[in-house]
Amino acid sequence: MKNKRVEKLIRDLSADYFVFAPQKLGADLAPGYEYGISEVKDINNIDWSGRVPYGNWKEVLLPHHERLFDLKNGELIKAKANSPLIACLGMNILDLKALTLFEQVFANDVYYQERRRNLLIIGYSTGLPNDYKKNKVFSHNYKEDILEHVVFDIFITSQSNGKIALYSGSEKGQKILEKYGLGDYQHIEFSGPVAESGPDKRMASIAKKMENSFNHPVWDDLNKRCIACSKCTIACPTCFCFDLEDRNDPADKSRSRKWSSCFNSDFTLIAGGQDDLDTVKKKIFFWYFHKFVRIPKEYSLPGCVGCNRCTLACPVGIDINKTIQSLMK
Ligand code: SF4
Ligand code: SF4
Repeated sequence: MKNKRVEKLIRDLSADYFVFAPQKLGADLAPGYEYGISEVKDINNIDWSGRVPYGNWKEVLLPHHERLFDLKNGELIKAKANSPLIACLGMNILDLKALTLFEQVFANDVYYQERRRNLLIIGYSTGLPNDYKKNKVFSHNYKEDILEHVVFDIFITSQSNGKIALYSGSEKGQKILEKYGLGDYQHIEFSGPVAESGPDKRMASIAKKMENSFNHPVWDDLNKRCIACSKCTIACPTCFCFDLEDRNDPADKSRSRKWSSCFNSDFTLIAGGQDDLDTVKKKIFFWYFHKFVRIPKEYSLPGCVGCNRCTLACPVGIDINKTIQSLMK
């Protein structure tokens, strides 16, 4: 996108923030995998197409491995936060929905909140509300008021006449736009993650169908095909499960957390060798159940934003759209 206001915004931001954005990572990567999130070194490399990049923002929001605290002389000392100023530029609506879910899940997590305070969220769309009509896994009816229900600081939409529209979604976003002389914007007040009309109806119908569906043939079919590799959970922007790792070496007594997956063999293993997810069928059912039943029950939000990254990641071709379609038949 060639737009002087956006270019100025990125140039000005670069003085204060590390700027990350969707970019083409390599021409030699397989189709679908070429686009990821990385630090912007050249603004011409930013991908403004609006496509969902394979890589996702979870890497910025939740590090793979995070030291929580050290044990020194019998005292717990909180690890020093590693939270640089990062501008997350070009987050699409689906990823903003995933972020909005993270904001609920990690509302009381001091480590997440510390990092989050230093992030500037800049959403982007090539034209609301028509984005991602083909991503029909879950919530696909983006209405005009979608921006009132997702978290962002600044939002950019490119319009068919080549112009852009700027929105602020927070005081921080307003201050940045004013500071950089981009006063021509509209402010959108966040009115909570759930629309006034109530939770998503399609979400409710899938939850109802899935809740007691363990004996449905769809799970037997996935049981035969899934190899429990966990690639889908790594690719998914709403998967947030982690393991706690305690070290008790003389030189390193500490607790860390690191990404994990319900497909990992030891994920639900407890003392005495009890493992409630001891078959692939139970694991894959659990994964879907978490997204489509448990998260909606707890947060009134979908646990799946319909980005299709898991489908792209799956080495045996399991397609979340088809799974949901089969279940809903
Ligand atoms: S489509 Fe797949 S990767 Fe995307 S949010 Fe849903 S479960 Fe996660
Ligand atoms: S990526 Fe596919 S095969 Fe691997 S755990 Fe997920 S559903 Fe199973």
